[in-house]
Amino acid sequence: MDRAQVELLIENADESVTLQGGSQKPLLGEQMKNLGIINNSSIAINEGKIVAVGKTREIKAKFEAKETVDAEGKVVMPGFVDPHTHLVFAGSRAEEFEMRIQGSTYMEILERGGGILKTVRETREASRDELLESSRKTLDTMLEHGTTTMEAKSGYGLTRTNEVKCLEVMKVLNEKHPVDIVPTFLGAHAIPPEYKNNAGQYVGLIINEMIPEVASRRLAEFCDVFCEKGVFDLRQSGEILLRGKEQGLTPKLHADEMTRLGGAELAAEVGAISASHLLFASDNGLRAMAKQGVMAILLPGASFSLMTGRYADARKMISWGVGVALGTDYNPSCWIESQQIVIALACHQMRLTPSEAITAATINAAHAINRAHTVGSLEAGKKADIAILDVPNHRFLGYRFGTNLIDKVIKDGKLVVDEGKMV
Ligand SMILES: [Zn+2]
Repeated sequence: MDRAQVELLIENADESVTLQGGSQKPLLGEQMKNLGIINNSSIAINEGKIVAVGKTREIKAKFEAKETVDAEGKVVMPGFVDPHTHLVFAGSRAEEFEMRIQGSTYMEILERGGGILKTVRETREASRDELLESSRKTLDTMLEHGTTTMEAKSGYGLTRTNEVKCLEVMKVLNEKHPVDIVPTFLGAHAIPPEYKNNAGQYVGLIINEMIPEVASRRLAEFCDVFCEKGVFDLRQSGEILLRGKEQGLTPKLHADEMTRLGGAELAAEVGAISASHLLFASDNGLRAMAKQGVMAILLPGASFSLMTGRYADARKMISWGVGVALGTDYNPSCWIESQQIVIALACHQMRLTPSEAITAATINAAHAINRAHTVGSLEAGKKADIAILDVPNHRFLGYRFGTNLIDKVIKDGKLVVDEGKMV
């Protein structure tokens, strides 16, 4: 029998972590433990897509390729999907890091004009080219750590022009860089200093000017709000999210991170695709999320950076049937680029097993940004976005951490990272 020609074969993997079966609906509860592992396996790839995944002898009997990648002794899995990042910003908050270590809280620093407000000042001053260059470097690092698709939020401009500037930077990067970027408009990230005593007027600006421009120019798919005490309250958050929805931007929410405000309930009420953080989410809120199918995006790196010792109750969410995803929350107060670190934190601090954490950082993360039909699992027809890890089995994720476990990354069927470095 003639073998079919394909462009690339990944051969002889000890484990292929396929995550098959989760493309239609997120993997919930016990399903999160089922990674669909195929031992001694190979993957046929053509025109940027996966053609077949299976036992090496079966794949080799059916396909041949000019180019092969040997994955003997390694784990092959879908590239990580990072569903929550604040990719585009200028400067850093390294000085505040020391203040936080010495006991200043996030809100105290914000009230003194630091935190988000410092980054807003620096991002407004930065040119488009400066933001392009700094964000490109971040994307390179993320790709080298196995992330092939990510969500990115605006939210450090907080004027019409500067929010658009950041979303345009993402658009250019999405076109030029191998990593796929799914953009979110987060004009409601903080009350800008010029509206300090008139938050209502800023909400009006978001609703009447920013959302229509972002939506009509298709600069974002999602509209997000930082719903928190002292930032945007429930009523303002609801207004912004519904206005976005009316204009075609799917709602997302930063909810119940530092106080129990009812963000989880609001997410369910407005039909949000996801709610992030949820450290203080109420039981009613979590049940409503499970019922409405709102994904919980958990960000243990944010808890780690806040140094409060408090993490979201992932075990409760999983047992109640809430869809759980994991993200980095990459931003200047939580400078984490690697989903491998996030998986380790989720295992150690939230008691997720490596299997559950891997599910949360791939197929479930894809659901949280409406990409589960194209990425997040190794299945015929999906994008050939693949991470090859130099470890004997998937349990090393979370267990061995602090070093980059990535050997190779294949993006859209092309080798883009080799020996942990961009090629
Ligand atoms: Zn965030």
